[in-house]
Amino acid sequence: MAKDLYEELCKFYEVFMGPLPWRDEFRRALEETVTQEELAVFFLVPMSGSAPLSKLERRARLPATELYACVERLASEGLIMVYTHDGQTVCERGNPAYMTEQQVRKAEDTPRRAFYARFFNSILNGEVSIAIPTKTPYYRVLPVEGTVSESGARRVIPVEVDVPDPRAVLPVDVVSEMIRRDADSIAVADCYCRLTKRLVGEGCGHALQTCLVFNRVAEALVDYGTARRISYDEAMRIIWEAEEAGLVHNVDNCEGEITSVCNCCPCCSILLTSWQRGMTNADSPSRYRVAYEADACIACETCLERCPTMARSIVDELVVIDEARCLGCGLCVTACRQGANRMVLRDQQARLPKTAEDLYRQIGREAMIGIALQKLTGLVRRS
Ligand code: SF4
Ligand code: SF4
Repeated sequence: MAKDLYEELCKFYEVFMGPLPWRDEFRRALEETVTQEELAVFFLVPMSGSAPLSKLERRARLPATELYACVERLASEGLIMVYTHDGQTVCERGNPAYMTEQQVRKAEDTPRRAFYARFFNSILNGEVSIAIPTKTPYYRVLPVEGTVSESGARRVIPVEVDVPDPRAVLPVDVVSEMIRRDADSIAVADCYCRLTKRLVGEGCGHALQTCLVFNRVAEALVDYGTARRISYDEAMRIIWEAEEAGLVHNVDNCEGEITSVCNCCPCCSILLTSWQRGMTNADSPSRYRVAYEADACIACETCLERCPTMARSIVDELVVIDEARCLGCGLCVTACRQGANRMVLRDQQARLPKTAEDLYRQIGREAMIGIALQKLTGLVRRS
């Protein structure tokens, strides 16, 4: 008897998430999303890492044109990612969060999209925990640019803060540098966290078009109609407006070749809400922490309202910073009119993977080892 590939896909997603909520509805949504024939191609892609398209061509029992059509559909629905690596077109499975993000971004008013929004919202709310047994965070915070760089401090709305010694500031700390260096093409897409919250009637007032994507991801999302191509100047306008609105920049947790910059709000973002719940394998703090000068502080509490992680409190008219909660975003530095905060390099720095591909390979290895350990011990670690 032929395998039930929708059941197999549910099981694959459960490796990452544990038991799926609303499993029957989830399966029905999958049946509307992809065909059995497309799923047969999906299962030719390895569970972890990527496979060259040429390998799929050899293994598929399909004419090449039909195979390409399946690959295109799987990619446009968010089940796989297709990109160029070492001059080859390669395919990689997307995890369930990636698939639902792409579904939520579709500009259609259908029960299927509404279901995926409800499903993704359960992840955002922490009702469903993504139990990927990895240590390396996918994303890393970049500070408000004007708190670490003179160039950021001199922009149209000036930021009156002391910036660190420029010799200590690296391109991996400065959002405009990372975008300028890595982005041959840039596009902007809706923030899928805020979009999800809007779709379930819990939206906040922050802008939607704030997810910047670059190069292969930009090309793919523009092709699928979920992103719009923009210039470097427009990208930087979005960055500055995000900072003024109190949003936190997040980039791929690597030295370069970033694929995206998210501008996250503490109310909707999966990264910030996961961090607030104590989950440390989704987002990494920036390379900076905050130094606080009590003599300058008037205990006005403005920085407490601005801090996205509730890392600050006032005790005896002095600010206390919970270092373990601080993401080094710099929003408290620009919020303070008294100049009582500044950014300083952390003493210990995590080693960054060179590229986004290295990062995802590293996370893939950790996931495989973690899953094997879970099977051996019968334990599922909830991060
Ligand atoms: S905003 Fe500045 S002055 Fe006000 S409480 Fe925070 S550190 Fe103190
Ligand atoms: S204390 Fe809060 S606002 Fe300040 S850098 Fe840390 S996380 Fe950001």
